[in-house]
Amino acid sequence: MKLLKQLYQINSKSGQEAEIKRLVLDQLEGLPLTVVEDAFGNVFITKGQAYNYPCVAAHLDEVHQPGVRHLQETDGMIFATDEKEERVGIGADDKNGIWIALRLLHEVETLKVAFFVQEEKDGELSGCRGSRACDLSWFNDVRYILQCDRKGNSDIVTYSEKADVRLCEDDFIPAEIRNLYGYAPVPGGKTDVVALKQRGLKIPCCNLSCGYQNAHKPEEYTVVKDLLNAYHFVHHILNVL
Ligand SMILES: [Zn+2]
Repeated sequence: MKLLKQLYQINSKSGQEAEIKRLVLDQLEGLPLTVVEDAFGNVFITKGQAYNYPCVAAHLDEVHQPGVRHLQETDGMIFATDEKEERVGIGADDKNGIWIALRLLHEVETLKVAFFVQEEKDGELSGCRGSRACDLSWFNDVRYILQCDRKGNSDIVTYSEKADVRLCEDDFIPAEIRNLYGYAPVPGGKTDVVALKQRGLKIPCCNLSCGYQNAHKPEEYTVVKDLLNAYHFVHHILNVL
């Protein structure tokens, strides 16, 4: 989990994603990819040649302020403390999603990945600024988007209650697959795929649990086995849908 911890060590408060972007691009060196960064700072990656692609999405930013982060791992959980040994957030929301997408770019032959900036609300600024600003035509050859940006270990967000947006049908990921990984459809909140749907994107999208808990709080932590299960779930979906 070296890369995951490297991601956690970087503070990527919204609008300050340059360092995490560098690490992300470093990890992809040598892979046969097309990488495009748009004017807003979102990063779009294409691997392989296909008539159309599955797409995985994550956001590069986090809510936490810069500061000391001593990472700790006990009982399969990763969290951090500061110099006073008080808990501090690690930005597992949404570095767990970034980690999954990076690993998939190494493992899968054809894939598109969207890394959005400025997903989090920031003071007066509303969220999903990157996904509201991007060019939707990049998704013209995308079949569906799996965003990995949901707490916990069992949710497939298929409907955004907050925005009243249907992301996909509840059976978009068939029960026989989701049951293998302990996932089920639920209503949820807002994230980039919701913003894309609000802008008129037609393809099925969903937001999947990726192993973090207590997002946006100092007590944020990751359950490693839940993150790994999420990775295997996404990989399985990419193989069959
Ligand atoms: Zn998030």
